[in-house]
Amino acid sequence: MTAQDEVRVRFRSCLDDVAAYKPGRPPERTDGRPTYKLSSNENPYPPLPGVLAAATEAAADMNRYPDMGAFDLLEALSEKLGVPVSDLALGTGSVAVLYHLLQASVSEGDEVVYAWRSFEAYPIAVQLTGATSVQVPLTADARHDFKAMEAALTERTRAVLVCSPNNPTGPVVHRDELLTFLDAVPADVIVVLDEAYYEFIRDPEAFDGVEVYRDRPNVVVLRTFSKAYGLAGFRIGYAIAHPPMVAAIRKCALPFGVSQIAQAAALASLRAEDELLERVEALVTERTRVVQELRASGWDVPESHANFVWMPLGDETVAFSEAVQAEGVSVRPFPGEGARVTIGERAANDLFLEVACAWRQSEVAGTPTAR
Ligand SMILES: *Cc1c(COP(=O)(O)O)cnc(C)c1O
Repeated sequence: MTAQDEVRVRFRSCLDDVAAYKPGRPPERTDGRPTYKLSSNENPYPPLPGVLAAATEAAADMNRYPDMGAFDLLEALSEKLGVPVSDLALGTGSVAVLYHLLQASVSEGDEVVYAWRSFEAYPIAVQLTGATSVQVPLTADARHDFKAMEAALTERTRAVLVCSPNNPTGPVVHRDELLTFLDAVPADVIVVLDEAYYEFIRDPEAFDGVEVYRDRPNVVVLRTFSKAYGLAGFRIGYAIAHPPMVAAIRKCALPFGVSQIAQAAALASLRAEDELLERVEALVTERTRVVQELRASGWDVPESHANFVWMPLGDETVAFSEAVQAEGVSVRPFPGEGARVTIGERAANDLFLEVACAWRQSEVAGTPTAR
């Protein structure tokens, strides 16, 4: 192929403004001290032995295509959630399920409404379909502004994305505000409830997507094995919705996308759920501690019901992230806005808190030594 051939190929114009994904920079240290990745909301615990064994066993069949029907896993999920198998669709992570859903439902000229700032995957997923993102600013306390989201609905709106708890800010959407909003959404507009951090929620007023979707055929719930279950590397998540929505998602899914290894690990995780949820509980305890310590040292952090906290840093975001990085901890900066910091193992959280508290103190003292 010559250079000239290369420039003649054409791509869909909706790709032009799609930002390439920027993976977080891993922390580097030259002094041999440990480094911690608090930039991707990963679960810090290593796999449970039983889950690892199930995955390893499944790897022995790598010459075969996976079970495309994912029979065993869907049965187990169906039982756990109390929903029929016909209401479940799997994907290579819940982001993949979202891609399939959007591919099935929106295209050029359509609008997709969601809060902003929210999950970075949303603008990319929408843009790839050719549709237009309508981003509705969060409230001052980093929550969804449903009045404004309702006002943003137009005849072109085909889908609304609700992220609860909201990535990267942390607050959950309450049942009453969601139900009021859903009543205002036309029945032919899809509402996606992204509950990637469902297991970390401790707010009794939060909605439960499985309850919400039952009598609402336009609602689809997204959940994942990436966060609470610690299977981010295997790529497996799912949708819960009425059969027509599920059928549309399945039509757009890549054939044999979800590997047998991922299916086996997810199934073993469901069987070891009690143990995994104990780990989630420990992370929630750490989250509470981190938020308390940050607030005690003067940080105004929003309440979080996920496995991360939001540091509203504004113009100091990049400088702060570099200061933390220098101590061997990577966080996720959103320049000009703030940084998202995953709740990790205790030592990682301690290291982060040390830098964050010193940062506040140096600011209060007017001597920005940490910079
Ligand atoms: C992590 C995350 C997901 C899930 O990603 P996977 O593709 O399942 O790994 C979905 N939504 C949000 C908001 C997330 O933060």
